[in-house]
Amino acid sequence: MNCDEIRERLPALIDRELEPGELAEVEKHLAECPECRSEKSRQEKFTTSVKISLEGLRPSDRFIKRVIEKLPEGASPEAREAEAAAARKKGLVSLAVAVVVIVLALLAMLLAARYKAKQEKGGAPPAPEPAPAAAPASPAAPAAPAAPTAPAAPAAPANNP
Ligand SMILES: [Zn+2]
Repeated sequence: MNCDEIRERLPALIDRELEPGELAEVEKHLAECPECRSEKSRQEKFTTSVKISLEGLRPSDRFIKRVIEKLPEGASPEAREAEAAAARKKGLVSLAVAVVVIVLALLAMLLAARYKAKQEKGGAPPAPEPAPAAAPASPAAPAAPAAPTAPAAPAAPANNP
């Protein structure tokens, strides 16, 4: 197996869902390939954090019971239990997908907001404002009467010691 094939199997490896034969091959490759090893630990970390954030979101017992009740009558208790476990897992997976989608959406919004702020700050030059300089003096404003010259401040009385 090459690195790509190994990496395709990392999620299954982390979930311990690999066939024994594949598992041996993947582990052998990981022992020899530092790149795939670090990819594996990256995925492991991510998977663990998603699982932790989902700890409180397990489907309720009532939901599980409803699923069991919907199973065919003839199903053995073991089969029913297996179905229930599958339903539980499915619920977790769709929750995980939902969480990932929400996180990505938030990230996209954050990036968009940042990008916009950056553009507004230093990007395009400000729009030219109509220059009123060339316009004739507005007739509305009467020429202000010359401000009376302030009377010269009386000389401070000499207060020489
Ligand atoms: Zn590799």
